[in-house]
Amino acid sequence: METYESCQKELVTVAKPIDEILKYPVVDQTLCQEILLTETPQEILFSLFKRFKERAAIVTSGQLSGMVLIHLAAENGLPFRVCTLDTLRLFPETYDFLNQVASRYGIEIEQIQPDPQEVQEMVAQHGEYLFFDSKAKQEYCCNIRKVRPMQRLLEGLDVWITGLRRDQSEARKQLRKAEIISSATHPVLKVSPLMQWTADEVWQFVRENEIPVNPLLEADAQGHYYESIGCVICTTPIKPGEPNRAGRWRWQNAPAASENADAEENAKECGLHYSI
Ligand code: SF4
Repeated sequence: METYESCQKELVTVAKPIDEILKYPVVDQTLCQEILLTETPQEILFSLFKRFKERAAIVTSGQLSGMVLIHLAAENGLPFRVCTLDTLRLFPETYDFLNQVASRYGIEIEQIQPDPQEVQEMVAQHGEYLFFDSKAKQEYCCNIRKVRPMQRLLEGLDVWITGLRRDQSEARKQLRKAEIISSATHPVLKVSPLMQWTADEVWQFVRENEIPVNPLLEADAQGHYYESIGCVICTTPIKPGEPNRAGRWRWQNAPAASENADAEENAKECGLHYSI
């Protein structure tokens, strides 16, 4: 298998135009198209690291797809930056798990935290549990604790690699494998190499490769499990048969018979992937 090191040796002898591309990588539609046409996650990661190095990062909360990306990067000798959004309200199990992952793969996981002043002002004005009050206040809290820190992270990145998949929710069915988004100052390529993987395929890959799993994702004796893991209180386990994101902000769930149930399920996004 081709590794980053073997590719670097090749670079010494390749023609100048390729050299130039690798030296001055540009986020543009040509690159976006190239990534869209690149089939395997391994090839995508290889191509992005080759060009962008520390200007590209895997951003993950340590859930299954993100763990697959960390594993693929490690297996292929691609020392990507790995970042996680630490809202300061994550589960103790998640903090422990991220420490285990860092030591298993010999990587640093950068914990991107909210601005302390912004959190202090929000809590002083609306209280620690403002997300119970209304959808607007929940979005405000997500904005302070997730979206704004992500925007600050993007100022130092050209490529944002995510573990998003189309099968994760109705809203994510429109996901693109690569798209250009804007930070405040420059274009950023957002890439979801596992876009087309199903949950079963991800679990199979995780099991076959003995990739660490956050214990919250494993089902308990009653079959309840966390389909997605975010902040304490705002994330709860789901029962078999419930929609994937039913465990998020459970107090906002529509009654099952409501005509708006699908629309409300679609709205179960914190804004991280739809407002940046
Ligand atoms: S998930 Fe809940 S606690 Fe976490 S940032 Fe959003 S509203 Fe705030």
